[in-house]
Amino acid sequence: MDAMADPLVACDGGEHVLYLNPAAERLLGWKLSELVGQPFDRLLPPRLRAFDGQSFLRYLLGRRRALSGRPVRTSLLCRGGPEMELEVTVGSSGGGGGERISLVLRRPPEFPDYTQEPMERLSSVAHTRMVSPVSAGERAYQLVFENAPLGLFHFDTTPTLLACNDYFVRIMGSSKRMLIGLNLLSLQNETVMSCVRDVLAGRHAYFEGDYRAITSGKVTPVRAHFAPCFNEKGEVEGGVGIIEDITEQRSAEAERGRLLREAQEAIRVRDDFLTIASHELKTPLTPLSLRLASLERRLERKEPVDSTLLRHARQHLVRLAALINDLLDASRIEAGRLALHFEPMRLDSIIERVLAGMDAERGHHRIDYAHPTEPVRIRGDPYRLEQVIANLLENALKYSPGDSTVRVTLDVRGDFALLSVTDEGIGIPHDQQEQLFERYFRARNVSVTSYGGLGLGLYISRDIVERHGGRIWVESELGRGSTFHVALPLLSAANPTPPEPTHPTTGSPQQVH
Ligand code: ADP
Repeated sequence: MDAMADPLVACDGGEHVLYLNPAAERLLGWKLSELVGQPFDRLLPPRLRAFDGQSFLRYLLGRRRALSGRPVRTSLLCRGGPEMELEVTVGSSGGGGGERISLVLRRPPEFPDYTQEPMERLSSVAHTRMVSPVSAGERAYQLVFENAPLGLFHFDTTPTLLACNDYFVRIMGSSKRMLIGLNLLSLQNETVMSCVRDVLAGRHAYFEGDYRAITSGKVTPVRAHFAPCFNEKGEVEGGVGIIEDITEQRSAEAERGRLLREAQEAIRVRDDFLTIASHELKTPLTPLSLRLASLERRLERKEPVDSTLLRHARQHLVRLAALINDLLDASRIEAGRLALHFEPMRLDSIIERVLAGMDAERGHHRIDYAHPTEPVRIRGDPYRLEQVIANLLENALKYSPGDSTVRVTLDVRGDFALLSVTDEGIGIPHDQQEQLFERYFRARNVSVTSYGGLGLGLYISRDIVERHGGRIWVESELGRGSTFHVALPLLSAANPTPPEPTHPTTGSPQQVH
């Protein structure tokens, strides 16, 4: 019986399943182990469980003589619940082991008996050729149907699935053997069933969503169109459907949505930035114009002019120019057009030059500077490195109390010059330390009004340092202070690899190799 090509189910006299051959397992989707010992009723739609006060099997056995070997057309339940239309021949025997009832199942002849098994398909094709040669038209239709890049299916008014193509089978994740013959009103998807009802009532229908195939449990996002088939008299004879797997479209849509959200976020950040930038640019203008007005008045009245007035006016202009330069540099970096001019240079000299120029800004801060006695030579752009160092120092002064100390150290570690700027200031929350070097980023503990700044300095600094083959990073404790480190390859170094940054919380400059 295992070798029989026809599906076969056997029960005992109490109508419990004893056996299912592999062909029946394939057809119904059940495994023998799931059904053995179960009442045969589990394979029957509820409406077929009792006939004239008898069970289905007893009723069939009673009609055996009248049927004289002819099969009965009926429905059985596949695994998962859908009904499949089948022809059943029933027999019984009463050997030593008690009564045995056997059922041979067959696909009704109008359903093409394709299967997923290549050998069976081959023999069924051979069989078709021998018995009824396929006409050229039919063959063309079949080729189109089978190879269409969409799932195609066709059902009658009962409504039983009569045909489907390979694409459809792939979406459902089962086999033609299981799908063809299924009653579409026994599917467990209300929306799809109402589409089928619409079609039988002569209307078009549409379904889009996640479809769970009842025969395999496979869930696929699909789009399906259903249409009625009318005969010459204008009556509905069944329906056709096309079904499309939209997994890829879905992920493309999700990707588009993600890109759109990112773009919106970028626009929001830029809008915020424009507001901040406008305020920042305006800040030096008021004191500047006040001083210029006062200067004008004095000159008109031929009063003596105080040079501090002019110096203050100039400081505000310098601040304005620095803001504008940062804006220009940031947009040059964005466009990949920030030009660097490398030359052999002394990093220690640049630091000294920056420190000398800091006098006006340092206020009551103390600035300590420790450096090696030997010159520290690197290959770099002196103008741009001056900009980096000045930015770190300005930040250290800006974000720490006026009477605290800022420590600047220059050291040589292996192939690198290591510059560190340490302050005793407000510090930076750990979760924001990575983002500091991003464009427009301002730590959330820093209010715009109290400190000013465009959030561009560190962005520009990182670009410059990295283009020198170096690295910039920060260690900081909120409320305790911050240290910004810059490592730059020495002039003597051949192909150096920038050192790994020390861990923001646990590291110290000494750990840099
Ligand atoms: P800004 O012009 O806003 O200071 P930066 O790019 O130089 O722009 O710095 C980015 C952000 O990093 C600042 O807004 C501030 O929140 C934080 N920051 C930079 N340096 C320090 C520091 N020494 N102490 C505390 N926070 C700092």
